Amino acid sequence: MSNSSPRASAVAAIAARKTEYASVNFVEETPETVFGSNTFSLAVMKAMLKPETFAAVESTIHEGERLPLGVADDVAEAMKNWAVSRGATHYAHVFYPLTGATAEKHDSFYDPSEDGGAAISKFRGKTLIQGEPDASSFPSGGLRATHSARGYTAWDATSPAYIVESANGITLCIPTSFVSWTGEALDTKTPLLKSRQALDKQAQRILKLFGHKEIAQVHATAGPEQEYFLIDKIFFYARPDLLSAGRTLFGAPPPKGQEFEDHYFGLIPDRVMAFMFEVDRELFKLGIPAKTRHNEVAPGQFEIAPLFESANLAADHQQTTMAVLKKTADKHGLACLLHEKPFAGVNGSGKHVNWSLGNSTQGNLLDPGETPHENAQFLVFAGAVLRAVHKFSALLRASVATAGNDHRLGANEAPPAIVSIYLGDQLADVFEQIRAGGATTSKQRGTLKIGVDILPELPKDAGDRNRTSSFAFNGNRFEFRAVGANQSVAAPITVLNTILAESLDYLAGRLEGATDLNRAIQEVLKEIVDKHGQIIFGGDGYSEAWHAEAADRGLPNLKTTADALPALITPEVVDLFEKYGVLTEAELKGRYLVQCDQYVKHLNVEAKLVEEIAQTKIFPVAAAYASSLAEGESRLNVVGVASGRVTLEKVASLVAQLEGDLSALYEAHKAAMEVEDWTFKVLPAMAKVRVTVDELEGLLPDDLWPLPTYQEMLFIK
Ligand code: ADP
Ligand code: MG
Repeated sequence: MSNSSPRASAVAAIAARKTEYASVNFVEETPETVFGSNTFSLAVMKAMLKPETFAAVESTIHEGERLPLGVADDVAEAMKNWAVSRGATHYAHVFYPLTGATAEKHDSFYDPSEDGGAAISKFRGKTLIQGEPDASSFPSGGLRATHSARGYTAWDATSPAYIVESANGITLCIPTSFVSWTGEALDTKTPLLKSRQALDKQAQRILKLFGHKEIAQVHATAGPEQEYFLIDKIFFYARPDLLSAGRTLFGAPPPKGQEFEDHYFGLIPDRVMAFMFEVDRELFKLGIPAKTRHNEVAPGQFEIAPLFESANLAADHQQTTMAVLKKTADKHGLACLLHEKPFAGVNGSGKHVNWSLGNSTQGNLLDPGETPHENAQFLVFAGAVLRAVHKFSALLRASVATAGNDHRLGANEAPPAIVSIYLGDQLADVFEQIRAGGATTSKQRGTLKIGVDILPELPKDAGDRNRTSSFAFNGNRFEFRAVGANQSVAAPITVLNTILAESLDYLAGRLEGATDLNRAIQEVLKEIVDKHGQIIFGGDGYSEAWHAEAADRGLPNLKTTADALPALITPEVVDLFEKYGVLTEAELKGRYLVQCDQYVKHLNVEAKLVEEIAQTKIFPVAAAYASSLAEGESRLNVVGVASGRVTLEKVASLVAQLEGDLSALYEAHKAAMEVEDWTFKVLPAMAKVRVTVDELEGLLPDDLWPLPTYQEMLFIK
């Protein structure tokens, strides 16, 4: 590569980069003092509020009681005082619109004094709790016309307010629900909160059956693992496709990819470690319990997972985690890519959502204990999950349907678009016994002998893991592995909570009033296994054989977003959400339209990028190279050697091919109307252009190639 090419200068700049890492020092600032230091936490509230006010806040958080208005006022006043004492000059209502993003509107605490003098904070607390951003520019799927713009945000007390420090000031951030003037939810948080209420109500009925006297509020728990890529920011800015679409639309496979499997759990590079420490520190400050970090399978790919929390809080924290990853990467001269498939040919990124339900009195309700066959309460909850996931598998698939995620699901990558449940040996066996008439034993975990005297015997888990399953039981929780890396986890969790509420409702209906509870449980669970057992699958989810078998079992295989989205608005799904008060038919249809619209917009941007890059960056250099080869060839002919002929023919025909592919793309793009047109016409036309361009990449002189290559982006840091 000649030193004059922009790519060569990029590489040189990265190599010459000075390392200035040390901004985090956990010795001087211990995690204990850092954790939660920027949150308006229960501890802060306890110190600042009158005891009765604090008690009211606690019962809102723990028992789901409505916060009385007078109390809200006091809390808001304390929140403001706390924030101002920490140096905040502004506050922002943070909300989660249907785009899946995080939105915020900032206001200052200050007004000029009456004599026009110094600004003073004469701010009423109340305003903190409720806000009114203009809702007209947020997608609602037709629920709101542009002229009916009023939208309200309201503080969700279960999600603590926090302060965000930026270079020139401090902002108080308040997590809120976002609804329209007519009361429709315009966000992802409101239905999540409603689904939590529905789940609590039905779970309570089941717990009562088992004779519990004291039953605290039941809520879903979630621990979302986030996968992401890091590349040098200089490369990121040199790739218009990464900049605007989040993924590379071109790029020949590098000579070395992930085939050595040497990256997974490998030594974390220094530069990335520095980034990770800072990410953890920033998350700790915000009370986000970051727990694990490691290299993922693909080169340049990493993962972060928090300790699980109540699902609503986990969803908010997940949104903040994505923001912190991006911000911190930028500070370290890196770009954090959250797209589901930034690079073709290496693994994509998901967000495995570990999900369970529980409360403070009965604990984790999906914990089987040592002998699950005797644990009827656990079996009822697990049976309810089986039934729910089978009955609403298409809906679950639709809840993770995005343009980006289509490159993972249904594209021979973890996991397939077919929703199935992996139970593990022990549980699969228990349910098999139930099917056969009654469960009497549980396979025991046993120990694993390593065969080296100095090493201890390890207690084995009762079930192995299955990395190809979309929905896997992991010992005391289910892991929904199909969620996209870039997605908000709120919608999939809302679906999980709601379908489980429906199944618990069904089971409670069947079991309440039974004279012999154990017998009734065996009966209804057997029915569930008979009717829904085909959702259980422990084999290789990637195999052709499974695809054929799943079809025989009648399990939907909705490969693309176009196939999946209609499942959001089937009569059965509308009834489900209406019955449990989570979403109205109008809200649901609105969401469906927003998802279609988002999908089309993403593909439109991608198609424009393919056209622009191929036409204005690739074609000119390829055509110029072809003509220089032609010239060279005729000159060399003088000496009677036909040198350059083979390459010339290849390049020239690819240039012609590129023009043809591009015309086909322009046509498909122009004609695209329905979601299906984009999926089945525009996307394949884009893919064809890519094939040609990637071939050219293998033929053109390296210093002419205008885009950073896969090798550079994935391996140079
Ligand atoms: P894996 O080995 O699957 O990659 P990780 O340790 O990366 O596991 O992540 C597991 C996640 O599951 C963590 O976020 C953890 O807190 C979460 N988890 C554990 N128990 C529960 C539970 N009861 N409910 C929800 N999530 C849970
Ligand atoms: Mg993990």
